[in-house]
Amino acid sequence: MRRVSIFGATGSIGQNTIDLIARDLERYDVVALTGGGNIAQLAQDARHLKADLAVTAYEDRLSDLRDALAGSGIEAAAGQGALIEAGARPADWVMSAIVGAAGLAPGLEALKQGATLALANKESLVCAGTLVLDTARAHGARLLPVDSEHSAVFQALVGEDMSAVERIVITASGGAFRDWPLEALRRATLEEASSHPNWNMGQRITIDSASMFNKALEVIETREFFGVEPDRIEVVVHPESIVHALVGFRDGALMAHLGAPDMRHAIGYAMHWPDRQDLPVPRLDLGQVSQLNFRHPDDARYPALRLARAVMKRGGLSGAVFNAAKERALDAFIAGRIGFLDMAATVEEVLTRFEAHPGLIDAQMTLDNVSQTDTLARRWADEVMQVRAG
Ligand code: NAD
Ligand code: MG
Repeated sequence: MRRVSIFGATGSIGQNTIDLIARDLERYDVVALTGGGNIAQLAQDARHLKADLAVTAYEDRLSDLRDALAGSGIEAAAGQGALIEAGARPADWVMSAIVGAAGLAPGLEALKQGATLALANKESLVCAGTLVLDTARAHGARLLPVDSEHSAVFQALVGEDMSAVERIVITASGGAFRDWPLEALRRATLEEASSHPNWNMGQRITIDSASMFNKALEVIETREFFGVEPDRIEVVVHPESIVHALVGFRDGALMAHLGAPDMRHAIGYAMHWPDRQDLPVPRLDLGQVSQLNFRHPDDARYPALRLARAVMKRGGLSGAVFNAAKERALDAFIAGRIGFLDMAATVEEVLTRFEAHPGLIDAQMTLDNVSQTDTLARRWADEVMQVRAG
C-alpha cells in the first residue's frame, strides 16, 4: 500500500488527484487530506478515501469538520499548525495543491519526512526555490512537477543530459483575453477574467492565466526546477493548449509534449513515475485538432512576463515579493477594489519599493525570512493600492 496525502484536496488539482486515487483505492493508504472552507467536500472525501486525518485551514471551522466526520473515526484538525502537522505525517507521496504561498510550509514539512512531493503549488518554487530544492536534497526527498508545462518538460528530458539542453519553451494559452484589444483590458471584469478558454481550473489561477501572471510564475518555476538560465526560457502563445512545452537541444532538435488539456495526465504521471500507467484522459485526434498555432507574446499586453524576468535577474527573495504582491493584488481585483491592469502596476511598484531595501531582498532564504518578506510585501501592496486609488 502506498501512503499518500493530498494538500488542497478540495481544490481543482486536489479533486482531480482524488479522482485518480478513488479509481484504484486498494493500492493507496490515504494519510491526510487538507482543505479550506468547503468542509462538506473535505469530510466526504476523507470518508470515501478512509483518510486518517482531515485538516481545514480555518480554526473556526474545526467544530464543523468534527461534526461532519462524527462516527467515522477520522481525526479532525484545523489551522496553520495542523497543516504543517499533516505534512509531518509519514507518507510516500504527497500532492502539494494548496493555492498560493500558503502551500510552502506544509510542502517543506513533507520533504523533511523524505516524501516524494508532487508539486502543483508553483508558488513554493517562486517564493523559495533554493530552500525547497535544498530541503529535498538534504532529506533524500524527490520533487516531481505537476504543472502541465513542467511535467511536459520533465517528460521530454527523460534519458537526456541537461548539458545538451539549449532552451525550454513553455506554452501559454493567452487566457480569457488573448484576442481582446489592449485598451479593453482596463475594463475587464472579474467574471470575464474567471473563465478559461481551454482549462478548467481554480478561480485564482484562471485569472492569473488571463493576466499572464500564471505564465510569469511558471517561467520562474522553470528556472528553479530545471536549473536553466533565464535567457534559455521562452514563452510562446499557443491558443489550442495542445502542446504543453518543448525542449530544444544543442543539435537543433525540439522535443514537444502534446496532450489534451486535462490535468489528470500530469498528476497521474507524477503519481506513477517513473512508470507509465493507464490514465483516463481524452486521446487526441490530430485530424480533428487540425491546426496548432503559435505566436510570440506581446510584452505591452503582458507586463507580468517582463516583471518575471526582472525577478529572475534580481534573485534572492524577490520571488517571494513578486508572488505576495501578486496574491494581494489578485485579492483586490477579486474583491472589485482594483481594475485588471492595476494588478501588474501594483506588483511593479512593490518590487520597486523593495529595490530601495537590498538588505531585505538579499536576506538568507529561510522559511522565517520568506514569511516575513511575504507579510511585508502584502502590506506594501495594500499601501500601493491605496495610494493609486487616490
Ligand atoms: P483551487 O483554488 O481550486 O484549490 C486550492 C486548494 O487550496 C483548496 O483545497 C483550498 O481549500 C486550499 N486553500 C486555499 N487557501 C488556503 C490557505 N490559505 N491555506 C490552506 N489551504 C488553502 O486551486 P487549484 O486550481 O487546484 O490550484 C492549486 C495549485 O495548483 C496552485 O498553486 C495552482 O497554481 C496549481 N496549478 C493548478 C492547475 C489547475 O489546473 N487547477 C494547473 C497547474 C498548476
Ligand atoms: Mg501550467
